[in-house]
Amino acid sequence: MQRILVVEDELKIGRLIRDYLENAGFEVTVVADGHSALSHTRQHRPDLVVLDLGIPGVDGLDVTRTLRRTYETPIVMLTARAEESDRIVGLELGADDYITKPFSPKELVARVRAVLRRTHRVGPAQIVRAAGLTIDVDRRSVMSETGATQDLTATEFEILVALARDPGRVLSRSQIVDQLQGIAYESRSVDAHIKNLRKKIEPDPSNPTRLLTVYGVGYKLSDA
Ligand code: CA
Repeated sequence: MQRILVVEDELKIGRLIRDYLENAGFEVTVVADGHSALSHTRQHRPDLVVLDLGIPGVDGLDVTRTLRRTYETPIVMLTARAEESDRIVGLELGADDYITKPFSPKELVARVRAVLRRTHRVGPAQIVRAAGLTIDVDRRSVMSETGATQDLTATEFEILVALARDPGRVLSRSQIVDQLQGIAYESRSVDAHIKNLRKKIEPDPSNPTRLLTVYGVGYKLSDA
């Protein structure tokens, strides 16, 4: 059964959406704020997120930005008519579709189905290969060419996946922190995590060839 996360702070609307999606055969969880949305996604990997842009805490656009950087979970935004500029920003950030409030629940169900059809990916496993590493995102495991399995902490793993999604692209410390929103985290501790990560993924941690420092900018994973 496909699982949908609904992020909506208005109780009545959340219930309405849940009822319609459940009747359509989906398993539905409703949360009411951005932090819960991010932590639920991290832990449960829903198949799609229905996201109200006007939510308390981390706002809908920040949720979109964070989700899109780390996961491929399709996003259908719910927006008020007055939020046209937010809607455009959301689409630019990588949301898959939107629906304007007030909306017909049947239309929402149809949109959700259409987006799932369009974005359906073969098999549930997410394997990322970069810098001589094979990263299994779902199993949270990392292997090097020699087959050795590395035991990473949750934060180290998230940083590695963020860099590995786009090898060669430099991420600044604050961009790395952005990706970890929801995990209690400070910008200055990025360097410490990078150091620990190198001990686990570099053949020679004092002379890194995989996780590279770009001085004055940030870090990147080798695309060689
Ligand atoms: Ca709202």
